[in-house]
Amino acid sequence: MITEYFKIGNNILQNQEYFRRAGEIIRSGGLVAFPTETVYGLGANALDSDAAKKIYEAKGRPSDNPLIIHIAKVEDADKYCYTNDLYHILAQKFMPGPLTVILPKRDCIPYTVTGGLDTVAVRLPADQNARALIEAAGVPIAAPSANRSGKPSPTTAKHVLEDMNGRIDMIIDGGESDIGLESTIVKPEDGYLNLLRPGGITLEMLEEISPVKIDKAITQKLNKNERPLAPGMKYRHYAPDTKVVLIDSDLNSFIKFITEQSKNRNIAVIVSNTDAEELKKTNAAVLTYGDDDATEAHNLFARLREVDERKCEIAYARLPEKSGIGLAVYNRIIKAAGYEVIKLS
Ligand code: AMP
Ligand code: MG
Repeated sequence: MITEYFKIGNNILQNQEYFRRAGEIIRSGGLVAFPTETVYGLGANALDSDAAKKIYEAKGRPSDNPLIIHIAKVEDADKYCYTNDLYHILAQKFMPGPLTVILPKRDCIPYTVTGGLDTVAVRLPADQNARALIEAAGVPIAAPSANRSGKPSPTTAKHVLEDMNGRIDMIIDGGESDIGLESTIVKPEDGYLNLLRPGGITLEMLEEISPVKIDKAITQKLNKNERPLAPGMKYRHYAPDTKVVLIDSDLNSFIKFITEQSKNRNIAVIVSNTDAEELKKTNAAVLTYGDDDATEAHNLFARLREVDERKCEIAYARLPEKSGIGLAVYNRIIKAAGYEVIKLS
C-alpha cells in the first residue's frame, strides 16, 4: 500500500482539499494518521467494525485493547454512549482538550472498537486539524496512538512515517504535538472519578470537581492476578528497544553512578536541562528533555526514540516528580523502564 503524505500549510483551500480527501478515506473504511494536541492518532470510522479491525492489524495491537472514539462536539457523545452528570461537568471544564471519559456504550459502537467491553472511551480533541478531520469524515473517529504496538507514541508525523509507512492510507502532518503524552483517562463512578491514565488534565485539576481514585497501575507494577482498569495499561508500552532504567537518587549520587557506568560502555542519560551540565563531563550521551514538567512531557517520547537511533546499550533517567503533569511523565517513563528502579543511597 502507498501511504499518502499531506503536510498542512498556509494555503487554506489546499488544506480543505486534504481534509475532504482524508474524510472520504475514513468514510470508505480506510486508515488516516492525524495530529492531535496529545500525540498522533491512527483513525478509522468508529461505526465500522471492519475499519476498526484494520487499526489493530496496522499497529500489531492486541484486540482486547480498546480504542478511543474522537468526536467533534460535546453533545455528540450522547449519540454513541450514555452520558451522566459527571461527564457534563468534565466536558464543561476540560473539553475540548486532553481528556478521555469512559462511559457505557450504545449499540452503534461495535465491540471491535471497545475490545469487547460494554463501555466506550470518548474524547473531543482541541487540535484544529483533528477537529477538521472529524468534521470532514462526518463520523466519529476511533483512534489509538499511531505507533506500532509497544513503541513510544508518535509526537511528529516523521515518527508515524517510521512506524506506519506502507501500512495505512494517509498521514496528515500538522507539526509537533503540543502536549506530547496521551490523554488523561477517567471513568465516572458513583460520587467519584477513577483515574485510569494520567495526562495533560492533571490529578489536581480533576480534584477541583470530584474526589479521584488513582488506579494502582499508574505508578506500580501489577501482580499477575491483578487487572488495570484501562486494558492498555497492562502491556509493555511506551518503550524503546533500548533498556531504560530509572534511578532514585539525588543529583550528586546520580552523577557519580553515571561517571562509573559510562567508563567502558555506550550509555545514555535522559535528564532535565539543569542536570545536563555536570553529566556532559561523563562519557554518557546526554539527551535533555526539558526544564519543567510540561517540556519533559512534550519531549519524552522523542528522546526515547532517539535512544534507539543512537544504539545505546542502556539509558538511565532520574525519577520525575509526581505532581501536575509530572505524574504522567512518571507513569510513561516507569513503564518504559519496565518498572525497574535502582535506589542509590
Ligand atoms: P491509546 O490511544 O493508544 O493510548 O489507547 C487507548 C487507551 O484507552 C488504552 O490504554 C485503552 O486501554 C484505554 N481505553 C479505551 N477504551 C477503554 C474502555 N472502554 N475502558 C477502559 N479503558 C479504555
Ligand atoms: Mg497507545
